[in-house]
Amino acid sequence: MNSKEIRKQFLAFFEGKKHKIVPSAPMVIKDDPTLLFTNAGMNQFKEFFLGINEPKNTRVVDTQKCLRVSGKHNDLEEVGKDTYHHTMFEMLGNWSFGDYFKEEAITWAWELLTQVFKIEKDSLYVSVFEGSEDADMLEKDNEAYAIWNKIVPADRIIMGNKKDNFWEMGDQGPCGPCSEIHVDLRSDEEKSKVSGASLVNQDHPLVVEIWNLVFMQYNRKADGSLESLPAKHVDTGMGFERLCMALQGVKSNYDTDVFTPLIREIEIITDAKYGKTEEADIAIRVIADHIRAVAFSIADGQLPSNTGAGYVIRRILRRAVRYGFTFLETKEPFMYRLVNVLTQNMGEAFPELREQKQLIENVIKEEEHSFLKTLDQGLVLLDSIIEKTKGDIVDGRKAFELYDTYGFPIDLTALILNEKGFSLDEAGFNVAMQEQKNRSKTASETSKGDWEILHSDLEQEFVGYDRLEADVKIVKYRKV
Ligand code: ATP
Ligand code: MG
Ligand code: MG
Ligand code: MG
Repeated sequence: MNSKEIRKQFLAFFEGKKHKIVPSAPMVIKDDPTLLFTNAGMNQFKEFFLGINEPKNTRVVDTQKCLRVSGKHNDLEEVGKDTYHHTMFEMLGNWSFGDYFKEEAITWAWELLTQVFKIEKDSLYVSVFEGSEDADMLEKDNEAYAIWNKIVPADRIIMGNKKDNFWEMGDQGPCGPCSEIHVDLRSDEEKSKVSGASLVNQDHPLVVEIWNLVFMQYNRKADGSLESLPAKHVDTGMGFERLCMALQGVKSNYDTDVFTPLIREIEIITDAKYGKTEEADIAIRVIADHIRAVAFSIADGQLPSNTGAGYVIRRILRRAVRYGFTFLETKEPFMYRLVNVLTQNMGEAFPELREQKQLIENVIKEEEHSFLKTLDQGLVLLDSIIEKTKGDIVDGRKAFELYDTYGFPIDLTALILNEKGFSLDEAGFNVAMQEQKNRSKTASETSKGDWEILHSDLEQEFVGYDRLEADVKIVKYRKV
């Protein structure tokens, strides 16, 4: 079954259970100061769960464009290195707003996976919340256990802790236990050696979580105590690309038809072959992944820029360009050439890609062009810095110069240093950055040069650091 059919079947299945099919909300969020990007299907329905707004339909189904590169959900470091975490992915979901609850959510999920999609029952595991002894003394989810136990043998039901099996919207608000479904894609031989049950939630690349069923049954009050919600809700999220992997009999999301056309195109453009060396494979996966994140953001109206969401997108694009540059020897802009294939593959489900195709290509090409110039100069300089370094820690002030004068991103500096067996003196970098900030605050005029990056806008106030990539802190600013 190809990915387009899989997406349609998911929606049709729940439509058949009286769900209203609704469109994906934008991936880039414009009106919520607490969230830059949609990171789960439930984001757009938050108001219904909080009781601020009444839903028109109490049952809905959709596929939601998600991006997990910042805040609570940041999978960026995994992307490319593993085969099942993406920056941008589709989250398939069905919802009940005060309508059905655990019984239906569980039995329908099972029916869809095993009867419609025909996944072998023996390759599935489910998890149930085990309860917690913490101050709030959360109960084990006996209800979900009993429902599962009618359809799944006990040795395939795994008890899970608060981290994996209890969902909370925030410090306050709706929360509740969840049940996840995991699929074991290993060969029979591997399965006979080690039980799949012991590999659930262990980051095994072939025993992966595909679907999370959240049962919102409590409200956490300001004092931390829980009360039962009068109307209980269901919020489910299934990774579309992972589902495709399970249904297409492959062992990596990148071997599904969601990604193979992109990978073919990367091979044609770069002359690389996927599956030859681990380094090149990671680069190819990073590029195939990141082009989606960037293209969908631009289609949503978020262009790469020096601040906020735009800065995150710029960094994702640069990360992909850098991987290409270093491991696939791409010295010319090439990412923009992938937009055509992406649009052919996903333009039907997401027409915004088709409508904005030209803009997406132009913006990406321009970004690539200016970054490649920087990269070339920066790499030469970085090499000379490394040569002069005694020991294995590179002076943060030197890295800052590179950043400040050439716009050479600090996370790339750290990544490259890491690859060469060096590490970066982060504290020194941060001090130099703060000094520069203080200087530019007092400057009467700011130049608009390329290298100004975070200092060009004096309307901003430094508020701290955030984590964006492996062991690198990025500077966060707030508009004042
Ligand atoms: P994982 O444990 O694999 O990181 P998760 O528990 O963080 O997943 P949820 O927040 O429960 O994920 O999201 C619901 C579903 O979305 C998951 O079951 C998974 O199938 C999918 N998913 C989550 N993160 C990603 C990602 N970065 N890329 C692709 N699919 C994802
Ligand atoms: Mg996760
Ligand atoms: Mg998980
Ligand atoms: Mg989960």
